Amino acid sequence: MATPLLEVRNLCTHFFSKAGVVKAVDGVNFKIDAGQTLGIVGESGSGKSITAMSIMGLIPSPPGKIVDGEILFKGENLLHKKEKEMRKIRGKEISMVFQDPMTSLNPVFTVEKQMVETIMTHETMTKKQARTRAIELLNLVGIPDPAKRLRTYPHEFSGGMRQRVMIAMALSCSPSLLIADEPTTALDVTIQAQILELFKNMQRELNMATIMITHDLGVVAEVCDDVMVMYAGKPAEFTHAKEIFTNSKHPYTEGLLHSIPKITPDKKKLQAIEGQPPDLRHLPQGCSFAPRCSKAMESCLTQDPKMRKVGDNHQVRCLLYEDIESTKAVTT
Ligand code: SF4
Repeated sequence: MATPLLEVRNLCTHFFSKAGVVKAVDGVNFKIDAGQTLGIVGESGSGKSITAMSIMGLIPSPPGKIVDGEILFKGENLLHKKEKEMRKIRGKEISMVFQDPMTSLNPVFTVEKQMVETIMTHETMTKKQARTRAIELLNLVGIPDPAKRLRTYPHEFSGGMRQRVMIAMALSCSPSLLIADEPTTALDVTIQAQILELFKNMQRELNMATIMITHDLGVVAEVCDDVMVMYAGKPAEFTHAKEIFTNSKHPYTEGLLHSIPKITPDKKKLQAIEGQPPDLRHLPQGCSFAPRCSKAMESCLTQDPKMRKVGDNHQVRCLLYEDIESTKAVTT
């Protein structure tokens, strides 16, 4: 079997403070191949962004530390790389697009300076060649009159255009893997649709793998092949993106699906998931979703469920599936 582009095995990233240990990511497993898009979904604090920062080697230490696991990129464990080697990988092999482009772009430099510098850091090019590449990239992401716009400052672009600039910068060295952390959350819906379309086109053209971090299942439906739903630092469910809408198994996933606003004539009240995500320093015994779960059983209060295979490319962490013979534990 071909080696996946990225394989994350039992990733555990914890933060150590006087108030206790925050298990922000605790046992995350997934694989992604070239050209595929994986969606990582969950509420704030579920571990989505910390998973991404762990892959990028950007966990601030202290207080953070990757205490266990492997991050295999093209077969090599990124956790064994020195910071100097990771700097070469970041930007060139693995790029990231953040939620708010205004905080990622430097407001005091022109887009040209920032793009040319990024390209020249990773590619052997003259300034003139890097500038030509920057113009090509702005053109690729649909910025009109790119040669002129290159000379402007980030504040002179609209929100959607700034996000396009960020995507162009992330694509500047043709990365094999793009991590997009809530790339459309700060944008209005029409711009969001344009940016998602842009992601799909870029991926097709460059055969890039993408990890799309989002709390929006609409984004998953639009662009993802597979989806991993996270809760309290652990994967709750992993399956094909289409399957999540037709055959979701985990009560948390069902809760997320029910909380999507629908335009229906019966004007039913939106069903929110009751309660709050748990304090990651003091997780409840048993299943961490139990205090909010409408299907919780007595055993859920004492037994921590394992991730189990419930179908082709479908895994779920829930005791409702522990006694079903056809299921099989795949992780701890
Ligand atoms: Fe709900 Fe129990 Fe399943 Fe946890 S293990 S999601 S509490 S039914």
